Amino acid sequence: MSSPIRFRSNKKGKSITFTYLYQVHRKTVKKGFTFTLMVAGETGLGKSTLINSLFLTDLYRDRKVPNAEERISQTVDIIKHTIGIEEKGIKLRLSIIDTPGFGDAVNNTASWKHVEDYIDQQFEQYFRDESGLNRKNIQDNRVHCLLYFISPFGHGLRPIDVECMKALHVKVNIIPLLAKADSLTQAEVHSKKLKMRDEIKQFGINIYQFPECDSDEDEDFQRQEQILKDSIPFAVIGSNIQVDSKGRRFRGRSYPWGVVEVENPVHSDFLMLRNMLVRTHMQDLKDVTREIHYENYRAQCIQSMTRMMVQERKRSNQSATDFLLLFFQLRKMQEVLERIQEQMQQSQRGTC
Ligand code: GDP
Repeated sequence: MSSPIRFRSNKKGKSITFTYLYQVHRKTVKKGFTFTLMVAGETGLGKSTLINSLFLTDLYRDRKVPNAEERISQTVDIIKHTIGIEEKGIKLRLSIIDTPGFGDAVNNTASWKHVEDYIDQQFEQYFRDESGLNRKNIQDNRVHCLLYFISPFGHGLRPIDVECMKALHVKVNIIPLLAKADSLTQAEVHSKKLKMRDEIKQFGINIYQFPECDSDEDEDFQRQEQILKDSIPFAVIGSNIQVDSKGRRFRGRSYPWGVVEVENPVHSDFLMLRNMLVRTHMQDLKDVTREIHYENYRAQCIQSMTRMMVQERKRSNQSATDFLLLFFQLRKMQEVLERIQEQMQQSQRGTC
């Protein structure tokens, strides 16, 4: 009795219609959004810088970066930051789950195990709350999206990237990012993206799939959605500083040969990523988490609970059988004893 793991099929995927977005928008404007975003990838790939740039915060002020010796045997920590932001009048309570130490140790076989355990714990908590009495006020801490940082310096995905994404793709919406894209030429970004998309397909990794558009959808909207799909993995650049150049001030990185602008679509996919995360696809990421990933977890949970109950029933049936066997054995022994006693009494009577 095994339940097949469900993935979102792109063909059947629910399309985001304007009506749907409008309804969701109205409902959530009132309540405000909550969203949980996780980041993973080896130290130094620019995770903290990108998070600060995306949400214009300074979350990592007190961070202590461990030295190489400390990292040899480092285990993955899970750190949660919560910030409140407002996007076009909509309040958003954003939880960011950081995984320092990921991929840093000499032996990284279980690097993603902590991440996987964390995601499962949130599902477990939700499952318990949902079956409890106070179902209306459940706090949803399920992880809605994992930004997975891939190094720009390798030749495509590394074994740890493949293993990690394969271990997590049934539990969370993975969005792969090509980190530090300013260290690559435009042609390199293009060829690396193609290679990574091929590898993702070849290794059967199910990253987050953007929903299919309805055929009657606005042409411009359809084109934007196609651009999003073709941009995976998003090539990103982060910076914690403002740069002054040609009379303008912007978040960027300044080099002897020029300046890169974080929010310039020609330089990186940063804006595309930000827009999809906090504007266009946040609700869909939450829907897929609830309808696919959490449902998979719930189905597995119920299945293993049913299996345990069947085993327990079998075990109690077994102990009933054991009891009956013992009872009959005792009865038999009692009969034998009674017979011996009778024989002894008869022989005693004969001698008298
Ligand atoms: P983390 O360990 O993954 O959180 O990485 P950090 O955000 O601490 O960044 C590590 C180093 O990379 C710092 O010196 C950053 O200034 C630098 N860095 C961050 N983002 C970028 C980027 O997009 N491009 C380049 N070239 N360097 C970056």
